[in-house]
Amino acid sequence: MPLDPYKTLGVSRTATADEIKKAYRKLARSYHPDHNPDNAAAEEKFKAVSTAYEILSDDDKRARFDKFGAAGLQEGFDPRAAAAGRQAPRGPGPGSADLKDLFDLFGAGSPFGGGGGGFGGFAPRAKGPTPGSQLDLKIRIRFDQAARGLTTKFQYERPTACPACSGRGISGNAACSRCRGQGLIAESKSLSVNIPSGADNGDKLRIKGKGGDGIGGAAPGDLMLEVQVEPHRTLRREGISLISTATIGPIDALLGCDASVETLDGLTPVPIPPGHSAGHRVRVPGKGVTRGGKTGDLLVEVTVDASRQPLLDLEARALAEKLRDLVTKR
Ligand SMILES: [Zn+2]
Repeated sequence: MPLDPYKTLGVSRTATADEIKKAYRKLARSYHPDHNPDNAAAEEKFKAVSTAYEILSDDDKRARFDKFGAAGLQEGFDPRAAAAGRQAPRGPGPGSADLKDLFDLFGAGSPFGGGGGGFGGFAPRAKGPTPGSQLDLKIRIRFDQAARGLTTKFQYERPTACPACSGRGISGNAACSRCRGQGLIAESKSLSVNIPSGADNGDKLRIKGKGGDGIGGAAPGDLMLEVQVEPHRTLRREGISLISTATIGPIDALLGCDASVETLDGLTPVPIPPGHSAGHRVRVPGKGVTRGGKTGDLLVEVTVDASRQPLLDLEARALAEKLRDLVTKR
């Protein structure tokens, strides 16, 4: 253990918390095992710097060191007894070096980096048990899968308590080499989730306890799964309403017809009533999307296209003209 944490970090006794943090970050970065593979001297320095920071970043420990020196940090130290001139019994050195501050130091190089779709930030330094972090992931599903719901299995990287140090981050009085003092390692896990029917773009599902492991017996975090729905070739959604389209000829528009309409179940005949007017959507009750126990309707946007029913012969044309005379006179 360092005799003088101020010397180890190269700061003055009156250094502010911010100056101490800056000095620590700079040194921890240059001595970090990731940047110094197989360099025992750097590893020793890294441990010393970590221990020094652990003392100086803790107001209580720093005050005890200032007043009583290294002896003030011994386990079982009794400040009143020391003040009265009696030496506390000697115990192990400063306990669990809390190295979680390293998370925000090694964003890019660490498996816990904060890149898109990666793990979220970890809980800040805390004494004792630390709850697991929340994980935010996105899952992309097809339009019909979202409408109907699905159960799907996927793999993701989950911060898991390091098996070498049981998530404590230290081994003996040094940073655990398996997890590099982080207490957590990234493990690929597979998870089966049930996405309910009617899921929509941007919906978030909270899956309890499937985020990062907690430390020191604390509860794991949750997994937040954001649903992304791929657009369909022809169908759209407006909430629980399903929107489809149909194109019919002018005679069918006048007389009504069964139009062939794309639905979740494929092409389906939908009755279009006579006298279709532009902009009107034909409603088919109960053929939309079910969400939260409610089922929406299918709405068919009908377009009239004369080329669908061309007047190819003289007789057809004569009939159409007669029909126009009849309906215009009225
Ligand atoms: Zn470990």
